[in-house]
Amino acid sequence: MYDIIVIGGGPAGMTAAIYARRAAKSVLVLEAVACGGQIINTPDIENYPVEAHISGFDFSNRVHQQAKDLGAEFIFEKAVGIREENGFKTVVTAKNTYQAKAVILATGSENRKLGLEDEDRLTGRGISYCATCDGNFYRNKTVAVVGGGNTALEDALYLADLAKQVYLIHRRDSFRGEEASASRLKERENVEIIYNANVTRLLSEKRLKAIEVTDKNDGSIRTIELNGLFIAVGRVPENQNFASLVDLDDAGYVIAGEDCRTNADGIFVAGDNRTKLLRQLVTATADGAMAATEAVKYVNGL
Ligand code: NAP
Repeated sequence: MYDIIVIGGGPAGMTAAIYARRAAKSVLVLEAVACGGQIINTPDIENYPVEAHISGFDFSNRVHQQAKDLGAEFIFEKAVGIREENGFKTVVTAKNTYQAKAVILATGSENRKLGLEDEDRLTGRGISYCATCDGNFYRNKTVAVVGGGNTALEDALYLADLAKQVYLIHRRDSFRGEEASASRLKERENVEIIYNANVTRLLSEKRLKAIEVTDKNDGSIRTIELNGLFIAVGRVPENQNFASLVDLDDAGYVIAGEDCRTNADGIFVAGDNRTKLLRQLVTATADGAMAATEAVKYVNGL
């Protein structure tokens, strides 16, 4: 029996573990794959206070170490559900069950797909959702990035250092991501930005070899031969396994305010899977602190 189980070992979940341990509560963090979550794929974090530059990998390792040093326990199993039993929460994984007085959902989000024919088959065969993981395979080759958020801009900048040619394809004429990254990208000679356009077809044999890009204004279609397509069109929250327990909004985010309390007694939410205005590393860690503080109050009967 733990005081608090945190589901998800990203920045929100690990920060929650730090705060809960500092309040002397026993804490288990259940993580499906590896600690760090989405930020682990960011090559250079420039907007988190104190460190002007730190890789997502180093950031995650340091927070993980901090949580472990404080006594948080980590088990690498995917939580697939929560049962209410005798006033406690039983968290079910593929292998085991674990009990706690309170649970914090810090499950983050997963890559959104374009939904094109053959997208799944070609993933790993020319299609990638992670520039820092796979960019090295495309040294001196031609690649495209789809999206207009910070991930797409940062991926395009990262790939511009490696690839011969980078196309950035965005469905509107202005970016959702930060102006600083967009400006840097516009200065790169090997980057062409294609605005107001969608990737509408994948052309392949065993691997992806070209894409069709349709102009939204005049419907014209341009075929671009390339070696790799990096899809960075946002994320979808990973709340499916808990949808019967907590209220979700239409987009699938757990509904909660700044106190990170859900509608379900003893279940809290922290990070990118919560309804919120700004999904950033700094707001994820802030959520972790808040959710843990509220969970500690709950465990203490306050
Ligand atoms: P995002 O901000 O949600 O942006 C997704 C982009 O993909 C948008 O430009 C969107 O277009 C486009 N899009 C969505 N669905 C599409 C579709 N079906 N076809 C074509 N384009 C589509 O996602 P993100 O860039 O992954 O970022 C997620 C969060 O993490 C954001 O809050 C972001 O600021 C944050 N982040 C921060 C950093 C950093 O601070 N260093 C780095 C990476 C990510 P529209 O603009 O037209 O909607």
